[in-house]
Amino acid sequence: MSGVSEASEDVAGLRSQFRAFLENAPKPPGLRNYGPTPTADDIEPGRAWHKYLAANGYVCLHWPVEHGGADASVAFQAAFAEECARAGVPRQLAITAIDLVGPVLIKFGTDEQKTRYLEPIRLGDDVWTQLFSEPGAGSDLAGVRTKAEKTPTGWRINGQKVWSSAANSAKFGLLLARTGPESHRGLSMFIVPMDADGVSVRPLQQMDGESKFNEVFFDNCELADDALIGEPGQGWTIAIMTLGRERLTLGSQAVAMFKLHEKMVAAGEARDALDPVLRRSMVKLWARMWLLRYTWQRAIDEGDTTSAAFSVLKLMTSETDRDLGDMATEVLGTDACIDPGEGSEDAELVRAMLVGRAQTILGGTSEIQRNILGERVLGLPKEPR
Ligand SMILES: Cc1cc2nc3c(=O)[nH]c(=O)nc-3n(C[C@H](O)[C@H](O)[C@H](O)COP(=O)(O)OP(=O)(O)OC[C@H]3O[C@@H](n4cnc5c(N)ncnc54)[C@H](O)[C@@H]3O)c2cc1C
Repeated sequence: MSGVSEASEDVAGLRSQFRAFLENAPKPPGLRNYGPTPTADDIEPGRAWHKYLAANGYVCLHWPVEHGGADASVAFQAAFAEECARAGVPRQLAITAIDLVGPVLIKFGTDEQKTRYLEPIRLGDDVWTQLFSEPGAGSDLAGVRTKAEKTPTGWRINGQKVWSSAANSAKFGLLLARTGPESHRGLSMFIVPMDADGVSVRPLQQMDGESKFNEVFFDNCELADDALIGEPGQGWTIAIMTLGRERLTLGSQAVAMFKLHEKMVAAGEARDALDPVLRRSMVKLWARMWLLRYTWQRAIDEGDTTSAAFSVLKLMTSETDRDLGDMATEVLGTDACIDPGEGSEDAELVRAMLVGRAQTILGGTSEIQRNILGERVLGLPKEPR
């Protein structure tokens, strides 16, 4: 824990400490900033990088110290995430295990579950996947149909999940399944070993060419009793906690967006495409990005991770990111339709355009965020159900 054990709220000081550390850190061959989820090819360099961060106390910053974390404030976590984005490196192997599963196990897990699962997560040994969404249940998770039936020795799972990020590289899954007929109280949360009999994973190829998503099928998969997290019927409460944490992870995107915006401007200049109309759109986007940056800062300063500001942030970040990606069509013109090949600057812009579509869907769609803001923040009447 050399890096962060003396946590202080001198955020500017911390930033320069992080920057120096990241600049001098040896980067494993093949490491790239792959975002929250690694592809199968990213796992090896991502894990080596994660282990280096872990050895220096820079992972699981939000976990309690007793579980190997740093009990760091939101400001501290955000500064580290931003400096990683600036340095063009991932801040951890993958989002699901550390940001979602860890806090769930710390709050709801048995002592045995904590002992068994937390340390391999902290060390980057185990990748996890989030098994919530189904073909008929995404925004409305209460519609989950994958069934967990009680057996004398544990639970039998049948059903299908979809959009399960990193399931093809994961050792374990965090599974939301139906144990009763009541819409919310009929849901429970389980730990699934992804190599268990009756579990099959089918990767889906995205339009940017990568395969980060998967379909996961359960065909009479038998789990032991200790696969249950918390109590039967507590799945909804646990799912809501993980979805809240997902929104918190978005702030670091601001730095990446500024970098991308600079590249868009450079590509526009190189093509002599920056006419007054395009310049105006780019300046408007630039102003939005600063607005986003300051809203993020305000939320951090409040120090309350349940703040409504994070819902605003999720909405603003995803839509700004999508619009920034769309700029690629304006600056590249018809070149945006051609596969520019790996590694080129144009390829990065085209990829941003394609990946931008996902931002307004993952972790809760923009429509759902607007519903949340309308109902819970502005106090508007609830939507008819
Ligand atoms: C990059 C990415 C990674 C993901 N990773 C995972 C993962 O690891 N694990 C996992 O379980 N899931 C994952 N997902 C799935 C994600 O959580 C769902 O896609 C999301 O919740 C939306 O659900 P859906 O796709 O079923 O769309 P639907 O819920 O079917 O929605 C379809 C459309 O209807 C709109 N809509 C739905 N309900 C309402 C309403 N009440 N009011 C207004 N509009 C509404 C939506 O906004 C959307 O535009 C991922 C998705 C993406 C894009």
